[in-house]
Amino acid sequence: MCIFCKIAAGTIPSIRLYEDAETLAFMDINPANDGHCLVMPKAHAPTVFEIAAADFAAAARTAAKVARAVDRALTPDGINLLQANGPGAAQSVQHLHIHVLPRRQGDGLLLNWTPRPGDRARIAEIAERIKAAL
Ligand code: 5GP
Ligand code: ZN
Repeated sequence: MCIFCKIAAGTIPSIRLYEDAETLAFMDINPANDGHCLVMPKAHAPTVFEIAAADFAAAARTAAKVARAVDRALTPDGINLLQANGPGAAQSVQHLHIHVLPRRQGDGLLLNWTPRPGDRARIAEIAERIKAAL
């Protein structure tokens, strides 16, 4: 059983925020900022590539609910919802989860990039490749 399945089962302790039949929200043990928490489907799936659509939808619904609560409780300047898939995206736990990450102006978290105009032809060519794979 993976570590997050053990958290869902209650065999590993966690600070729980919210639970329903399909999902669990709990505090991240290594918070990047105050209020950093995680939302996961209880059903095990490593990444977005394997997860059942209904489980992903349930996790999204709970993430929105928890994000609104974090916003009301902590009044951050903003909130990032983040979900990593694979080593190149820095995924460290192989059970799909959504980070609810409160942000403060100037908090220095390196999640953002500087927007630079892309090459229109390259954007369009890549869009065709993605659409062909849908
Ligand atoms: P990832 O890097 O996979 O997107 O995020 C995994 C997150 O899970 C990390 O932010 C990490 O701090 C958190 N985490 C890892 N192990 C545990 C644990 O045992 N309990 C809790 N509450 N969070 C964990
Ligand atoms: Zn699992």
